[in-house]
Amino acid sequence: MSLAFVSTRGGAPAVGLSAAIAAGLAPDGGLYVPAHRVRADLDALAAAPDLATTTAALLAPLFAGDALAEHLPAIAAAALDFPVPLAPLAGDPDACLVELFHGPTAAFKDVGARFLAQALPRLPGGAGQGTVLVATSGDTGAAVAAACHDVPGLDVVVLYPHGRVSPRQAHQLGAFGGTVRAFAVDGSFDDCQAMAKAAFADAGLRARRPLLSANSICLGRLLPQMGYYTHAAMAWQRDGRGPLNVIVPTGNLGNAVAALMARAMGVPIGTVALACNANATLPEFLAGADYRPRASVATLANAMDVGAPSNIERLRWLQPDADALRAATPAASFDDDAIRAAILAADRRHGLAVCPHTACGLALLERLRAAGDRRPWAVAATAHPAKFESIVEPLLGRAVEVPPALAAVLARPSRHEPLAATAAALRDVLLAGA
Ligand SMILES: *Cc1c(COP(=O)(O)O)cnc(C)c1O
Repeated sequence: MSLAFVSTRGGAPAVGLSAAIAAGLAPDGGLYVPAHRVRADLDALAAAPDLATTTAALLAPLFAGDALAEHLPAIAAAALDFPVPLAPLAGDPDACLVELFHGPTAAFKDVGARFLAQALPRLPGGAGQGTVLVATSGDTGAAVAAACHDVPGLDVVVLYPHGRVSPRQAHQLGAFGGTVRAFAVDGSFDDCQAMAKAAFADAGLRARRPLLSANSICLGRLLPQMGYYTHAAMAWQRDGRGPLNVIVPTGNLGNAVAALMARAMGVPIGTVALACNANATLPEFLAGADYRPRASVATLANAMDVGAPSNIERLRWLQPDADALRAATPAASFDDDAIRAAILAADRRHGLAVCPHTACGLALLERLRAAGDRRPWAVAATAHPAKFESIVEPLLGRAVEVPPALAAVLARPSRHEPLAATAAALRDVLLAGA
């Protein structure tokens, strides 16, 4: 029997994994979660030699009985062909970084985007063929473009706010060409999201041009992110050490929920702590306030500029008792001054250049250490600092080396098309040639 997936809001029929991946959001507006808890096969995990094998072994019980199950090893092998090393942190022998930025676009979004891009063409009945429509504030669009541009049956439309992504992010978005079109929207990220949302809600449009979502709430992106925490925790345990506690720089909570879901399956992960930027919705809630979603504010860690984290529903599903959740989940918010200070401290203390998101994680580690916490911690390093060189280099007073994969993308020509910030303008684009 296959595992069923249900909505966090309880108002949608249970579906199989393939259908949940194709749908993205559940029809009642909730997020898909497994209908019951499954356990990981810890022996298989202990024997798995690399990230791809670990991820396939971990996810097997979630894929069991679904049409995608037989393809899971091939999907993982094709998607997860780069390392996710545990790097020691000089000056703190009980801490390390989990480097999630060795994929083609140098941020952890590569993991989910590449897994989804491999899963979509293998969905039964052609349900995963069509146009991947993605609104991005920077990292997601590049990861999706890089992952999908050579996948048969898929083409990509990326919407990003003109002038509001970093120059290197903008270059990446337009550098794939072919079946990827990058539109510089004359508006904000919220406008881009509203345009995408309107297109997804337009049944007439979708009948003529099948649309696929690569939104971060999609299980096809979330589930593979459980794999790298598992890979790290098993390596940690193999070295004779106990459960691995992790600090996750957080925006939409996808990355943190992935760690918690792996832990719920029995993977030896200890505490999961959340490091946020000035968007303090989560730390305030976890400190005891009511949950108060709000508009986001712009910060140096722009990929975490989220005022209403969409995966909060999965966090509450994992631990419905708010007080228990608060007691178990350290969280803190760091403003831009604290981020700058943490980038400088990482250089001074650990000899490391870090991106502004990773800096939030290191700032939380410092705070915990200052309060006497001696536990082992792994900090998720979510992007390479070279992606945010305009922030990092002036602070450090030196150049940050560009990793080869990122350099290769930046060396390609880049092309974008202007687009008015209206649903009608996007509809015209999507229907031309449909
Ligand atoms: C997307 C992103 C985050 C936030 O991840 P969530 O899953 O939304 O919490 C953090 N850092 C970087 C570099 C990102 O691209």
